[in-house]
Amino acid sequence: MNRRRRIYEGKAKILYEGPEPGTLIQHFKDDATAFNAEKHALIEGKGVLNNRISELIFAKLGEIGVPTHFVRRLNMREQLIREVEIIPIEVVVRNVAAGSLAKRLGLEEGSALPRSVIEFYYKDDKLGDPMVSEEHITAFGWAAPQEIDEMMQLALRINDFLVGLFLGIGIRLVDFKVEFGRLWENDLMRIVLADEISPDCCRLWDVNTNDKLDKDRFRQDLGGLLEAYQEVARRLGILNENRPMMGATPVLVSSNTPSGKPH
Ligand code: UDP
Repeated sequence: MNRRRRIYEGKAKILYEGPEPGTLIQHFKDDATAFNAEKHALIEGKGVLNNRISELIFAKLGEIGVPTHFVRRLNMREQLIREVEIIPIEVVVRNVAAGSLAKRLGLEEGSALPRSVIEFYYKDDKLGDPMVSEEHITAFGWAAPQEIDEMMQLALRINDFLVGLFLGIGIRLVDFKVEFGRLWENDLMRIVLADEISPDCCRLWDVNTNDKLDKDRFRQDLGGLLEAYQEVARRLGILNENRPMMGATPVLVSSNTPSGKPH
């Protein structure tokens, strides 16, 4: 039985009270949702994969000096994080036309954008996360102008890093969504990367085949979502290639064994 205090339950994650003040435990569920949760399914093993993929990405971003809420992974589905005040804005970075941008501007899916483009969406399920401008964000007090600048700078650094990371494993980073939070240390406030970065919130296309290796497999009923996430994990070096693919029970490599050998 789980007797920890549950702080918040979202569509794909649960936040529990952490072991110390100022910490939380982020638990990755197997739920997949799309179209503002109108479409829902349980995909056994997805949470395990997202926990490991997000851990790897947050740890690497930390190494290049991007401040994040991530502390360490605790187990297959959970990670210890710093408690932050989430800024209610989804920051989307796009490199290639796809999804709502392609539709909105009549662009051909897959065409490269003239430069990376940042968009903001107001986090509100009831409204279906509407797109908003910097004017809306400051006028309604969701974030200060300086905080918007900081989020944009961080989002572009994250994009540059992730584009390279994924290109190195034969994957095109088409677009992704990130969230930021405010972290107080004494009287100082910092903006840090929060939430997760996983194939649930990125568009990842194989560079050779254009196969989708992300949540669009679920949104567009393409099937093979778990296999696609496993493929991303495998290319990132997280999933053990020497063991057979077990479908619903992916075999994961311990982060303490760089040789790739399981415990
Ligand atoms: N995205 C997300 N959560 C959302 C909306 C979008 O993670 O609530 C991600 C999505 O996976 C994609 C990027 O943000 O990588 C841009 O999504 P888009 O605006 O094209 O929306 P969609 O077509 O996915 O509804």
